[in-house]
Amino acid sequence: MPVLPAKGKTFEISVPVIVVGAGAAGMTAALAARDGGAEVMLLERDHRPRGSTSMSQGNIAAAGTKSQKAAGIDDSGEIFARDIMALTRGETDAHLARVFADASGPTIDWLVDKHGIPLEVDPDWGAALGHSRSRIHSVPTHTGTELISVLGNAAEQAGVDLVTDAHVTDVFANEGGHVRGVRFKRPDGSVEDVGCDALILTTCGFGANRAMVKKFIPEMGDALYHGHEGNEGEGIQWGMALGAATADMTAFQGLGALADPHRVLIHYNIILRGGLIVNVKGERFTDESTDISGMGRKVTAQPEGLAWFIFDQRLMDMVSKYEETKEAVQIGAFRRAADTKELAALSKMPLAALEKTLAETQAMAAGKAKDPHGRDFTLHPALVGPPWWAVRVCGALFHTQGGLVIDENAQVCRADKTKLPNLFAAGGTARSTSGPADWGYIPAAGLFTAVTQGRLAGEAAARLVSGRKRAAAE
Ligand SMILES: Cc1cc2nc3c(=O)[nH]c(=O)nc-3n(C[C@H](O)[C@H](O)[C@H](O)COP(=O)(O)OP(=O)(O)OC[C@H]3O[C@@H](n4cnc5c(N)ncnc54)[C@H](O)[C@@H]3O)c2cc1C
Repeated sequence: MPVLPAKGKTFEISVPVIVVGAGAAGMTAALAARDGGAEVMLLERDHRPRGSTSMSQGNIAAAGTKSQKAAGIDDSGEIFARDIMALTRGETDAHLARVFADASGPTIDWLVDKHGIPLEVDPDWGAALGHSRSRIHSVPTHTGTELISVLGNAAEQAGVDLVTDAHVTDVFANEGGHVRGVRFKRPDGSVEDVGCDALILTTCGFGANRAMVKKFIPEMGDALYHGHEGNEGEGIQWGMALGAATADMTAFQGLGALADPHRVLIHYNIILRGGLIVNVKGERFTDESTDISGMGRKVTAQPEGLAWFIFDQRLMDMVSKYEETKEAVQIGAFRRAADTKELAALSKMPLAALEKTLAETQAMAAGKAKDPHGRDFTLHPALVGPPWWAVRVCGALFHTQGGLVIDENAQVCRADKTKLPNLFAAGGTARSTSGPADWGYIPAAGLFTAVTQGRLAGEAAARLVSGRKRAAAE
């Protein structure tokens, strides 16, 4: 039973705010709580913080930032929220989408100005895949490893008490859902109990919990999971046991861009700027320039569950600066073919089908034909080859998007809309802004919600505990 009765329980050690899970959401929540004047303990099950955050490309969607303004990009929370509502076909909470979109720009500016996190808008992404403005921000290397490392340094500087090798197994609470503390297990099997006045859950989603995936997202029940292995949905389960409501548990981000068998994420700009995706028969099967998240499902449904990205030297040059491209090149995931015959031989795709697909797309790029799948190939230069570049990819579940229902302050709510007294959630543990499926995921929403909800949760938890301190003193 993940929630233990707090009645009669005393804690030798107690801190005002405990945060569980040291990914982007947990780090940001801890920073915000510290800025709000609270003592914070951040508990992480791994030996050092990684999370899905470290596996990511470090891209964070945010609107109205100073970096966007400096780049001449006119954006706002209102426009961002409108984009979210359009992509989710109105199937997410419009009020919360607006609250989080409004808070996204100030969150990036705060991380940059107050905590020295080097985030800037990345013009390469442009306005695409549901974003009507260029609003994806990243750290210089465009890697999650850099992002988690700079967040970790900032947390240390801010005086956050980061405790690693601390797998939280239980939450102590009163009958009314008032959290009193947590229990965590050490790698040697010993356990420690710590009390708290407010608890922030940032254990991400349930992608690593096969039983939960099968229950809530049966279509991805047997799909490859390519997120952090520690994200077993414990935060969501504690919230549910405490009486919290959940929403959009069927939502997730899936991508069809994982090099097979190398398991390196291939930069999707290859496709957005003109590259093709074909199945092992050499045939296109969708408009690959839309619904990036739905590509996980679509690629998985193809023969052998595989597909190939095909592109030219221009696109290879464009993505060669990214760390994951360098890694993919180093481990041999990218294949170069001197001509279409060699491409067919190395990929084992039928030559005739490949020649037909390439000829058709070149005609579409020249405006001489229309794509039956609806893609406008005239938006980018036609592929120029040979040589051709190719990489075989598979689909995967990257992270889940449903979770605990929270309010404007990231405080966890019950189904009747009342709030749990001192419980907050952010990032993958909380309901995102992606609607009920995979098609509503707007690029870089995972980290957008992680840092934005994380900041809101940390600020609100600090306000709550400082109010209690004042009340106790009076
Ligand atoms: C390959 C990949 C690429 C991605 N790229 C992007 C991108 O560029 N932009 C974007 O917006 N999103 C991206 N995402 C999604 C993004 O990484 C996540 O949405 C985001 O990192 C979630 O942050 P988080 O803090 O909620 O979770 P995490 O970063 O996963 O952190 C959760 C932490 O909680 C810890 N934890 C879990 N349970 C416990 C417990 N019981 N006790 C103690 N600790 C616990 C875990 O060990 C982990 O460290 C990507 C995801 C993947 C997998």
